[in-house]
Amino acid sequence: MFEKRPGLLVVISSPSGGGKTTVCRSLLQSHPDYLYSVSLTTRPRRSSEVEGRDYIFVTEEEFRERVARGELAEWAEVHGHFYGTPKDPIEKALKERRVILLDIDVQGGMGIRQKYRQKGVLIFLYPPSLEVLEARLRGRLTEEEEAIERRLAIAQKEMEYWEQYDYLVINKEIEETIASVEAIIRAEISRVERLKRG
Ligand code: 5GP
Repeated sequence: MFEKRPGLLVVISSPSGGGKTTVCRSLLQSHPDYLYSVSLTTRPRRSSEVEGRDYIFVTEEEFRERVARGELAEWAEVHGHFYGTPKDPIEKALKERRVILLDIDVQGGMGIRQKYRQKGVLIFLYPPSLEVLEARLRGRLTEEEEAIERRLAIAQKEMEYWEQYDYLVINKEIEETIASVEAIIRAEISRVERLKRG
């Protein structure tokens, strides 16, 4: 009777270095049925990143064209580059009643909340402290000093958004954080309200 469980958009936001990419990767590994929303970005590809898996890397011109064609569910400028969530995979995931993870910033989270209010759940990963966040950002060694400084300043602003989210998880130990996010998803897909709405 309940095999027609609805799909769920799981927005996971945190400041840069907040751990959301690690959480998403781990969840995708342990739940092969989950999907991942691959964003468009105009930022240059990092050496560890794979086109089409981590991002779809596009020029600013192409990005603008896609926005104009209404192909994005939300988009934002983050750290001087454009990022956006393609609409089609999201709609497809909902139609197929799948769980889809969105690793997006707070502006994107607000956009998804507005557009897909009843189809989504918003989870905010909060760093244990600014010092820990800075250490994590530096540990990645992928950024120039100036970029790290910029991201830290933005991180403080982003952290103010936690109240707009449905869940707050303090990312102290990554394994514990993953387990919490997993529990939230399990609970959300079992909500009677969602099952009733279909
Ligand atoms: P990074 O450049 O470190 O991969 O990502 C920078 C920020 O952009 C992160 O907070 C990431 O979650 C966010 N981001 C990635 N994709 C999207 C997207 O499609 N939309 C929005 N609004 N933010 C995104």
